[in-house]
Amino acid sequence: MIVRTSEEREGILESGRRLAAVLSKLENMVAPGVSVEDLDTEAERLIRETGDTPAFLHYTPEGARRPYPASLCVSVNEEVVHGLPNEAPRILKQGDVVSLDLGLTHKGFITDSAITVPVGKIAKNIQSLLDTTRASLEAGILAARPGNRIGDISYATGSAFKGTGFSVVKMLGGHAVGRAVHEEPFIANDGHPGTGPEIVAGMVLAIEPIANIGKAAVIIAPDGYTYRTKDGSVSAHFEHTILVEENETVVVTRREGEVY
Ligand code: MG
Ligand code: MG
Repeated sequence: MIVRTSEEREGILESGRRLAAVLSKLENMVAPGVSVEDLDTEAERLIRETGDTPAFLHYTPEGARRPYPASLCVSVNEEVVHGLPNEAPRILKQGDVVSLDLGLTHKGFITDSAITVPVGKIAKNIQSLLDTTRASLEAGILAARPGNRIGDISYATGSAFKGTGFSVVKMLGGHAVGRAVHEEPFIANDGHPGTGPEIVAGMVLAIEPIANIGKAAVIIAPDGYTYRTKDGSVSAHFEHTILVEENETVVVTRREGEVY
């Protein structure tokens, strides 16, 4: 459990502001006919333009066979997370949804955020999945306060899906972040309140509910990275990096226009 100094907190806040600005620009690029490879190329260009580094490019997560080959994880429709935008890139079409998951390193401080964006007009039940997953993230952020436990975040994110018919993906989830892309502890997307490590001021956490329209089961593609829903149903993913303070929880990767 890592508690950040006030100097580290400043660096993480700046990293998050920069990431949020890039993610908003990428969100605005999403349209029918756009190649997901162009989103990745632009993500890297925008990050390097201000002297920062894409945190995911060449990062090798635990258990992976090779480094991640892109700056942006792009997952379309039935792709759940970690989709590769530059190997057999997909062209976005009307009615798709696309998850953009980005990590940025600013002076050694890493932040992580994801949004799922509609491509043109989407079906009502898919919009409902997006709305519920965003609400799940908000519930998780509200539960991330000193005195609570990590399990309270898991319980909050998981509870948002109860009675909706959607399935939260429990095997994937959030994590602490700040100096490495993934730090301990893992934050499951569903769980029991009052369990796990205690949350204290100075912790920096990435909370990231992931849910499917159909069943929860996911499989990993032969590329070693792309998770897909086993039943082919559409998946959604929203993520923010947050900083827990004594009296407030700061949404470090809050984008312009977002209210927290
Ligand atoms: Mg992420
Ligand atoms: Mg993450």
